[in-house]
Amino acid sequence: MHTPRYCLVMLGLSVLLMGCQGGWIDVAPMHYPIYPTSGESVGYSVEVNSGGCGGVQRVTLYESVITIKKSSQKWWTYNPGPETVLKEWKPKDLPDSSEYGWWKMGGYGADRLVRYRVEVEAADGTTVSQEVWYAIRPYPGLGHPAPVYCQGEPGWVFDIVFIPDKSLTDLDLFRTQCRYMILDAMFAESTIGLFRNSFNFYINPQPGTAVEKGYHVFPSNKANLTFAEALAVMHGHTWSMVKPGARWIDCANPAFRIFSAYQKDRGAMVHEAGHVLFGLADEYAEGGHHQEPILPNNWKKKADAQADAPKRGKPAANAREIDGSGWYLICDPGCAMQHCTAGLDFDTPCAERVVYKMVENAQQPYSGPHYSP
Ligand SMILES: [Zn+2]
Repeated sequence: MHTPRYCLVMLGLSVLLMGCQGGWIDVAPMHYPIYPTSGESVGYSVEVNSGGCGGVQRVTLYESVITIKKSSQKWWTYNPGPETVLKEWKPKDLPDSSEYGWWKMGGYGADRLVRYRVEVEAADGTTVSQEVWYAIRPYPGLGHPAPVYCQGEPGWVFDIVFIPDKSLTDLDLFRTQCRYMILDAMFAESTIGLFRNSFNFYINPQPGTAVEKGYHVFPSNKANLTFAEALAVMHGHTWSMVKPGARWIDCANPAFRIFSAYQKDRGAMVHEAGHVLFGLADEYAEGGHHQEPILPNNWKKKADAQADAPKRGKPAANAREIDGSGWYLICDPGCAMQHCTAGLDFDTPCAERVVYKMVENAQQPYSGPHYSP
């Protein structure tokens, strides 16, 4: 079925706002490890939240396992094929919020793509479904990044490629941290979380190099990464934690698409994604400043910031200079564009721009192949 491309981005909202009359069901699937090797057991978890709908009466976890035939084939061109039920829950008197878990012992064979789908049925018969694709390691992709948490065709969603820094020696730790970057950084931010099924995540086979002051070095397979909106070099250096003001992430110009983050710094992931995916500017002195023509979060003139503030959900008095930089902001203290602290959300003005860019990205034309589920 060919879903109109704008629908995919709206799915993030639709999962919350639709489902049943006057109610909603939110389905959040995840797997562990994020990029398992062949024969490694895989744990699945599903978080289901619902309001109204008479509660949840069934949760079903399906899988389709696909053998990769051509190394050059893209994951989203595979037909998922027949589904097998991995696990079904039919709890009685289920509370409105629940997490389900199940282990696939022994995992999967080599050269496999795994698609799993979670279907939730409400008491009134309404069903909501979410699917995820991931590869078994190593991915025979001839220098293409391995899908590790993919949900939609790349033209419809934001594609983020995690790249190990060349200095990283513990790649198991790197992969574990990539999973946390998806779960505890990206999906944990309130606005991004509304669109959680509008993101694909990959792990790159080749390393890049994060540079403290200067341009990050792209991996050697840069030519295979042009489809991605963000290239995230995960490193083990703590300089970005020690000297946040000195963090150099090439993110002042989103056209570079590449940024770095200390691999355990969830706040940095959200902040740098704010630059690269959403065109947000820094809200601290010595950062990168620019005024976007549509829904900016930095202003060159205080009067313009004051005039825009009421339209952006803030009092005019919020317009203030960013620490002697000559630039102005209206976000409250604590916005994720002011800090790289884990758990911080984008304040309303930045969140508005996130929503705008999500919709814009979903409306870009896509001319590639489509599979029929
Ligand atoms: Zn920044």
